[in-house]
Amino acid sequence: MARSNRSVVWVGARTLEIQERPIDSPGPNDVLVQVMATGICGSDAHNWVSSSVSRQLILGHESAGVIVEVGADVQDRYVGQRVAVEPGFACLKCEFCLRGNPNTCANLKYCGMDPTDGTLRQYFTCSAHMAIPIPEDMSWEEAGATQPLAIAVQLGRRACLTANKTLAIFGCGPLGLLVIAVANAYGVRKIIVFDIEQARIDFAVQYGADIGILSPKNDASVEALTFAQDFTRQVIREHGLDQGVDVSVEASGAEGCAQMAITILKAGGTCIQAGMGKQLTAVPLFLLTAKELNIKGTVRFTPGCYEDAIDLVSRGKVDLKPLITSTYPLTKANEAFSAQHARKDIKIVIMNQE
Ligand SMILES: [Zn+2]
Ligand SMILES: [Zn+2]
Repeated sequence: MARSNRSVVWVGARTLEIQERPIDSPGPNDVLVQVMATGICGSDAHNWVSSSVSRQLILGHESAGVIVEVGADVQDRYVGQRVAVEPGFACLKCEFCLRGNPNTCANLKYCGMDPTDGTLRQYFTCSAHMAIPIPEDMSWEEAGATQPLAIAVQLGRRACLTANKTLAIFGCGPLGLLVIAVANAYGVRKIIVFDIEQARIDFAVQYGADIGILSPKNDASVEALTFAQDFTRQVIREHGLDQGVDVSVEASGAEGCAQMAITILKAGGTCIQAGMGKQLTAVPLFLLTAKELNIKGTVRFTPGCYEDAIDLVSRGKVDLKPLITSTYPLTKANEAFSAQHARKDIKIVIMNQE
């Protein structure tokens, strides 16, 4: 039976084409996955609007599906197995890979990241170890949101999110929401979220945040850092946060939030910088010294993050369903990407076989 391999291909700014692409036959250590669902996110939308992708690129990197062929040397995967796909091709040889950090591999190729083709197609071939088994009762829509949850798990590792900690999250987009879910699963004591949109705050509180606060706008009459310090001091006082929070997550990419994420920390606290987008330059580094604060970055995921994410969903510790607000057939990818770019949905999942 001849298989079609309809693929979502960037051909120009805001223009996708559904193209028929060849199926890569699996090597001895590979599996061929029939892709069932692919979540799309801000980085996909970024590619979509770009006019400078180097070639006609298949987009997508958040996928799950069924193994339909296994390479001759693959022992631990089988045809018919349901899997989530890790979209990073790490070299497994460089110093970062050997240290256990393939997320910062010096030679990393990543699905849907120019110039590496992505997973928004009907069939995708990858190393067997990149296909992580998922349980039978996990829906394809949820499985297609495993990758962003794995990113939140990695953030939780970087932040050492554990019981009894207090957490502030700046930005209630998909990452902020997934961090709420992971933090609750790990027994974090109190979660305070900030955003500039009341609707997003309301959703975050419904989804498990303890306190939601509308970020104030600085009309520029007050010096930026003073504004941040005054505001966070007031929040700390009003919400009984003692000396501040243990962990803050900057997931908005806004300059003012980057400052607040530092000034809201108690001594010894950790700020995780996760917001992408424009460069944040006005970070008050001098405040780090006296309180021995930490600032850490986080990117993608490390070994075991997918397994942790799948475990959290399958045991009902994290519910991804409320986040998946729309699904589209692959043939309507253009509509899905423009909806993603308009940011009206929380999470959009494309059904690859439809
Ligand atoms: Zn993504
Ligand atoms: Zn490497």
